[in-house]
Amino acid sequence: MTVTDLVSYEDALASYDPVMGLEVHVELGTATKMFCGCATTLGAEPNSQTCPVCLGLPGALPVVNATGVESAVRIGLALHCDIAEWCRFARKNYFYPDMPKNFQTSQYDEPIAFDGHLDVQLEDGEVFRVGIERAHMEEDTGKSTHIGGATGRIHGASHSLLDYNRAGIPLIEIVTKPITGAGARAPEIARAYVAELREVIRALGVSEARMEMGQLRCDVNVSLRPHGREKFGTRSETKNVNSLRSVERAVRFEIQRHAAVLDDGGVIVQETRHFHEENGSTTSGRVKEEAEDYRYFPEPDLVPLAPARAWVEELRAGLPELPLARRARLREEWGISAHEMQSALNAGAVDLVVATVEAGADATSARKWWLGELARRANEAGTDLTALPITPAQVARVAALVAEGALNDKLARQVIDGVLAGEGGPDDVVEKRGLRVVSDEGALGAAVDEAIAANPAVAEKVRGGKVAAAGALVGAVMKATRGQADAGRARELILERLGADA
Ligand code: ADP
Ligand code: MG
Ligand code: ZN
Repeated sequence: MTVTDLVSYEDALASYDPVMGLEVHVELGTATKMFCGCATTLGAEPNSQTCPVCLGLPGALPVVNATGVESAVRIGLALHCDIAEWCRFARKNYFYPDMPKNFQTSQYDEPIAFDGHLDVQLEDGEVFRVGIERAHMEEDTGKSTHIGGATGRIHGASHSLLDYNRAGIPLIEIVTKPITGAGARAPEIARAYVAELREVIRALGVSEARMEMGQLRCDVNVSLRPHGREKFGTRSETKNVNSLRSVERAVRFEIQRHAAVLDDGGVIVQETRHFHEENGSTTSGRVKEEAEDYRYFPEPDLVPLAPARAWVEELRAGLPELPLARRARLREEWGISAHEMQSALNAGAVDLVVATVEAGADATSARKWWLGELARRANEAGTDLTALPITPAQVARVAALVAEGALNDKLARQVIDGVLAGEGGPDDVVEKRGLRVVSDEGALGAAVDEAIAANPAVAEKVRGGKVAAAGALVGAVMKATRGQADAGRARELILERLGADA
């Protein structure tokens, strides 16, 4: 099906009610793998971080990573889940070359955490509650690289390379209950959910959860049912959607595609689908297996887990302030709207602003520099704000120099240029580039006198009471001082010299 066959989004929503399910895989940032002691360092020489366990060699026996279990419990608690008193791992049996054991060690009907929720805030400030069905532990597969094909896909490739460094890295899969009642906001809710979940994961410190690095990936299930119908429609499952924007687009596309099929009297087949970044479409993957096909059975080589209640309570007590509550507190402290907080969040600026305020800046200027000037620079450079070579302490110093009148905004931007160019901290750049507001009366007075002398007609108007005309003289002073004059003080001096009252 091509994009032009879609039903318009509005028409789809007029006839149908969307139901969603989001499955998010988070790669934990543990030092070692889930069932062996192999390192998890990114970018290592292929197959250098492997052992008999993660290569599935005969006779090798797995051992559970305690930090992995602890992270799973903390994620479960942060999502308001119940923590199982007792649970087991299970084998999910299937063959794929990137999975040398021929089964994935996962959890099936005994997840470590279940029945929770995550509240997400939408652009308009409204809070929507997403039910969490379960969070369970499993392991990642290796990575295949297909050589010789045009698209990097297996089709048309002459051969494939396999790197098992990723095989066995701990994953937590977090599965929502069916999300109903979202209506036209389904795409926005899906995006906000994944964004909020990412914040929670980061706040817990269990993973950096960088989607562009595959540390957090989302499978998007969508179905439609006619308005008023209780029973869910058949879902499609779009796999491995790797950015927030793509999550939103995938939901939207699938709603429009399902509506087109259903309007035509067709049936939706339960299948996995691939998402295409280029045009936001999805295409058919494989027809979905039933759980029975995997022949799940309890993992015989690992003992069951029985997280002690006292330990669970200890972990609960040690949870950090959760992101939604934290942002509500910060909004209050910074005096900003839900929408402004959303912009800060989307720009990845919340923690940077917090750190800048901690370094002494006021919240308004901290937000101004990070969300205005620096967000623009990050955008131009195609990087994240956090990747810019400037620290919150340096931004706070720039703000302080502006506050004490040593810099104006224009000069401050040049100071930021210098810091980003590696010329040192703000004070070094001010020193090296000679960027100080000219406010000493001597130099400024001379510049004012010159401006008056060079613009007699304007000066005459000001003398005659047209105070507004003084702007042109201030402009001349700023030009003569290459933007370094204290504009307010220059204006005062001009009016004084010309005997006009401000
Ligand atoms: P699978 O492993 O087959 O993908 P899961 O239960 O792990 O199954 O995930 C299915 C996801 O889709 C869950 O989030 C679930 O709530 C959701 N879901 C189930 N049925 C439907 C449906 N008919 N329409 C939309 N979402 C659904
Ligand atoms: Mg699934
Ligand atoms: Zn190993």
